[in-house]
Amino acid sequence: LSQMDTAWAGRNIRYFPITDSTNTRARALAEEGAPHGTLVIAEEQTGGKGRRGRNWSSPAGTAVYMTILLRPVIAPQNASMLTLVMALAVEEGIRRVSGLDTMIKWPNDVVAEGKKLCGILTEMSADMDGIRYVVIGAGINANQEAFPEELAAASSLRILKGKKVERSVLIAETMKAFEKYYEIFVRTQDMSGLKEVYERRLANMGRQVRVLDSQPWTGTARGIDRSGELLVEDGEGRVHTVLSGEVSVRGI
Ligand code: ATP
Repeated sequence: LSQMDTAWAGRNIRYFPITDSTNTRARALAEEGAPHGTLVIAEEQTGGKGRRGRNWSSPAGTAVYMTILLRPVIAPQNASMLTLVMALAVEEGIRRVSGLDTMIKWPNDVVAEGKKLCGILTEMSADMDGIRYVVIGAGINANQEAFPEELAAASSLRILKGKKVERSVLIAETMKAFEKYYEIFVRTQDMSGLKEVYERRLANMGRQVRVLDSQPWTGTARGIDRSGELLVEDGEGRVHTVLSGEVSVRGI
């Protein structure tokens, strides 16, 4: 990718015409000693993964399937915030190549015109000494012309823009943004340096969200705290923190 002008993010690229899942492939490469910043890119995934064991629709040739391998020197409990860092990067990458008015649906969906353009999946390997590596995968709907009926909430940059985007530029822009935001993140190992920019892109901000806890409730999203948790105000004006992974938020 000649467009890549990063110091480390995506400098070492491993390209596969077809693979089961770029996250699985990146984990295997990590075990073989691949360096921090290695980027796995595939043209097609046969077993694309979403969160909570869901599938990620991964047709050949039209979308972006990529996973970055990181060897961060941070505490394991802080690794989940890297999902939000990648959401910021993908949102910026998409906006730069498409000009679409993209936003982030907490914690990690990139949306435009109410449609989902991207999914992000973070996986970690850790032992008693801490993090061994983290892989962050992003599936970006670049040039699909249509989606199956069951993915009515999905769209692509091509559908929303009415023209194709250059996938290599999308990848390069996303890596450039990721490197920038990652460097800010590791300084504090939390979202304090990114809270403002994240909240500016947060589609949920000031809007009603349904918190799918053991006892579901509805409140108003007020932003994120420095751990990346969503702040949701209830009817009595009390603000609660909602942890991604433990509860899922509906709305937008
Ligand atoms: P949700 O959007 O329901 O909150 P999630 O964030 O928990 O999902 P993800 O891992 O982001 O989960 O995405 C998995 C879900 O996204 C799938 O269950 C499916 O509904 C939807 N999906 C699958 N493939 C695509 C795609 N290519 N584009 C958009 N959405 C997709």
